Amino acid sequence: MRAFCMTNRGLVFDKNYPVPDIGTDEALVRVLLAGVCSTDLEISKGYFGFRGVLGHEFVGVVERADSPEWLGKRIVSSINFVQDRDADFYRLGREHHPRRKVLGILGHDGAMADYVRVPLANLLEVPESVSDRAAVFAEPLAAALRIRQQIIIDPDKPAAVVGPGRLGLMIGLVLRQAGGQVTIFGRSEASLQLPAELGFATCLVDSYVGQHFDVVVDATGNPSGLETAIRLTRPTGALILKSTYTGCANIDLTPLVVNEIQVIGSRCGPFAPALRCMADQQIELERMIDAVYELEKAEDAFQHASQPGVRKVLLRIGESASGPGTK
Ligand SMILES: [Zn+2]
Repeated sequence: MRAFCMTNRGLVFDKNYPVPDIGTDEALVRVLLAGVCSTDLEISKGYFGFRGVLGHEFVGVVERADSPEWLGKRIVSSINFVQDRDADFYRLGREHHPRRKVLGILGHDGAMADYVRVPLANLLEVPESVSDRAAVFAEPLAAALRIRQQIIIDPDKPAAVVGPGRLGLMIGLVLRQAGGQVTIFGRSEASLQLPAELGFATCLVDSYVGQHFDVVVDATGNPSGLETAIRLTRPTGALILKSTYTGCANIDLTPLVVNEIQVIGSRCGPFAPALRCMADQQIELERMIDAVYELEKAEDAFQHASQPGVRKVLLRIGESASGPGTK
């Protein structure tokens, strides 16, 4: 099969990658669309030392599984795979199990290939009303929804998202859905155009001298964004960290102590509510798609996705069957 891989030689498009074998608790999924995410870009620079097929954001159709009820279903998959079900599994929950594998990120081949192998336990059927192009956002939308599991959004108090990229915008939409008054911060006028069109208050990071915010989310992916986020957080407010970096952030943490800021790390979130949000069409996702590339052009897609201001680049991998949900 075709696969786009991270190897010791860097990124490689492989025409003859072996189709994965599946176990009894797994499904072989034919991939339709995959998303290029900033995590993929970070992996291509060496983050996690991952080697294998990239890609954890995808939608596909179950082609083979021992459980016949899944055959032919259009699915997405949550990305954390549990290895063994010891006490921590129950104490921490599956998604946070320390001995996990993560699709296309840690120890398990990803979805930028004709086929991907995923545990049946991780599958979620995509509602008919959700298009392939929206369904591919399930993982990042779930990550945005995670914040609402971690913190109560008070509609009376202002919230800010630093970073107007794809994740930042989705976080803004999710906070607004909870009633939050959301301002989106960016470094250029161009980056704030879509947030403004979506009805957000917007501000340039460098020129801002206004109020502080009760809830601030750093979704910039760079240490200077974290610095800005700390500066914008009101004393005793909450600072939510969504960024992961290749290197280390060299940042003055004293304001966190002096201002008694509550710092919350936030990673993966719940897929089922994400799919429900999409089915209700509460969140405008497809406007974030900048380009769609064929799998053979994955390297160009990565180039494109790493340009400033680009929100979402997709890889078209397979043809979907006809049907209302497969446009
Ligand atoms: Zn991602």
